[in-house]
Amino acid sequence: MPDLDALLADLGGIETETDPVVVRLKSRDFFWFSPILKAELEGRRGDLVIRPRAEDEVLAALGACVRHRVPVTPRGGGTGNYGQAVPVAGGAILDLTGMDRMLALENGIAEVEAGATLLQIDAWARGLGWELRLWPSTKRMATIGGFVAGGGAGVGGIAWGTLRERGNLAGVTIATAEASPRLIALEGREAAQANHAFGTTGIITRVRIPLAPAVAWRDLAIAFPDFDRAARFAAAFGLADGIAKKLCSVIDWPLPSYFKGLEEVVPEGRPLVLAMVSPSGLAATRDLADEHDGTIVAEQETIAAEQHHDRTPFYEYAWNHTTLHVLKRAKGVTYLQLLFPPDRLLESLAAFRDRFAGEAWLHTEVGRFSGRVTMSALPVVRWQGAERLAEMIATCEAMGIQVANPHVYTLEEGARWKLVAADRLAFKRRVDPWGLLNPGKMTSYVPVSEDEVAG
Ligand SMILES: Cc1cc2nc3c(=O)[nH]c(=O)nc-3n(C[C@H](O)[C@H](O)[C@H](O)COP(=O)(O)OP(=O)(O)OC[C@H]3O[C@@H](n4cnc5c(N)ncnc54)[C@H](O)[C@@H]3O)c2cc1C
Repeated sequence: MPDLDALLADLGGIETETDPVVVRLKSRDFFWFSPILKAELEGRRGDLVIRPRAEDEVLAALGACVRHRVPVTPRGGGTGNYGQAVPVAGGAILDLTGMDRMLALENGIAEVEAGATLLQIDAWARGLGWELRLWPSTKRMATIGGFVAGGGAGVGGIAWGTLRERGNLAGVTIATAEASPRLIALEGREAAQANHAFGTTGIITRVRIPLAPAVAWRDLAIAFPDFDRAARFAAAFGLADGIAKKLCSVIDWPLPSYFKGLEEVVPEGRPLVLAMVSPSGLAATRDLADEHDGTIVAEQETIAAEQHHDRTPFYEYAWNHTTLHVLKRAKGVTYLQLLFPPDRLLESLAAFRDRFAGEAWLHTEVGRFSGRVTMSALPVVRWQGAERLAEMIATCEAMGIQVANPHVYTLEEGARWKLVAADRLAFKRRVDPWGLLNPGKMTSYVPVSEDEVAG
């Protein structure tokens, strides 16, 4: 059992918080989307929160935690869905939100501190004529460090793919959990060591992120007579290279009826497409919608909407916000994460709807994956127990639909573990020999023994 009093004394002037209410709140994320994770993670909590304001404080805090062998779980906005930010082994929660400075913007690459929100970064970049290529639908709450370490896809994916796509992450600076913690800059492909590693391979202190020229995006909500026409429109829109776009989500009925603020404009029974389009692409998008019998039922300026707390940019109905809107108003549902095959996209969407009618409701996102346009999906699923969920996953896989199971919290059980560099365990040994960073998330890592380090 670590000596927390000794740790607190050793932290000197760095801001800390031990109030149990605050510590409990900072020990949670959105794992409760999953009944399985809720049962496994509810009640797990850290012992204190440490709130560094600058890189030297991160290094000092890590040094103290290493000396006292106290686990450290980094935290940004706390919006992860898989319990990534839950300190399952207790210890310190390292809250990075006090580090939110914009550092530089050169040659279309921004360098920012890891605790800055995506909203802050995008607003700052827009003032200089640039914007984020990608942001999660949690843009207003999530931090760039948390997005790199725990997220990785979202708004912009229709043009830029995911954060894993070569060129979408220029570099990160991490702080190590060695006996004498230090900063290491990981550039280009080396940055993959920190990408979607849940903070197990170093605390990200800075992110260098390539941007895109700023666009005054327009939100469109388009209602269609049936899902098939909505999906055909979305597939054609995804391939329409002449239209600059940031988002295209297809949301089957009755999911739009749960969208507070939009439910009144969506006609009963109609599937909805949400799109973000550049002003120059509006006329072509209207034509395409018309050709698929779509009716535009709502329209607004995206960036104006996100600047007002009482307004909802349409991307906050998309990605995992679709699930959130439903969960706020319905009981007994959860979700899955799917990727449909690009060469049989429309057929496999139809097959999924037939196979799981009355059991799962589709919500898809048009995106580019290794240059090919297809759709991922976060369908809302009726919760009928873990066994039925496992059967549904197996059925999807047998149908050629890839599943990234959102009901697991270790890196090894996640879909991306097999994609990471084979040397991730060796890298972890270099930067976190005792396995103190977010323990319980990278379960195949065997910490070094005290003798080994002493020798
Ligand atoms: C309603 C809803 C919608 C969502 N939509 C999307 C989406 O569109 N796309 C998407 O990718 N995800 C999405 N997510 C998941 C989540 O929002 C993203 O993963 C988000 O980017 C997390 O950022 P955060 O700052 O909240 O990170 P946190 O939840 O605080 O942390 C996420 C992980 O990163 C680690 N971490 C945090 N900061 C650091 C750091 N500085 N250094 C090292 N490790 C760190 C944490 O330990 C944790 O493991 C959604 C979640 C919800 C609840």
